[in-house]
Amino acid sequence: MALGRIPTIISPMSDPKPLLRVLVHGWGLSPELACRIIMTRDALRCEGRPLIFQVISGRRTAEDQAELRRRGRPAAPPDRSTHVPCPGSDYATGVDMKPIPEQQESWILLGTAAESQGLRWGGGTPRIQGIPKDAAHFDLGPKDCG
Ligand SMILES: [Zn+2]
Repeated sequence: MALGRIPTIISPMSDPKPLLRVLVHGWGLSPELACRIIMTRDALRCEGRPLIFQVISGRRTAEDQAELRRRGRPAAPPDRSTHVPCPGSDYATGVDMKPIPEQQESWILLGTAAESQGLRWGGGTPRIQGIPKDAAHFDLGPKDCG
């Protein structure tokens, strides 16, 4: 289950096909989110800033999400969390990722590259004051179960 998974390393040159498969079928991310993660990696590589980062959390059950909240982690309620799929969907539209190594500059590189690929970044504003607690969170936008 999601809470105890082994992180998936996203390195600049790794083959995107198996990576997509792991992101979608292993981590339960929507195909659009998985593509934007790989586009983020490629944007960094093309800018000459190859960055290694890792996925640390993807899809969660409502129970997982409630448990994180009980433990005091920065986590939205299950009905608002983009880690918890909408009813009738198999996929999360939110993901937690962190750069390796975890340096301020790497966080900002990862976050701004993700934003340039259409993702929201939990650490986006205000950047110059450092990294908020939810800097590891990225998603496709506010949860909308239509
Ligand atoms: Zn998150």
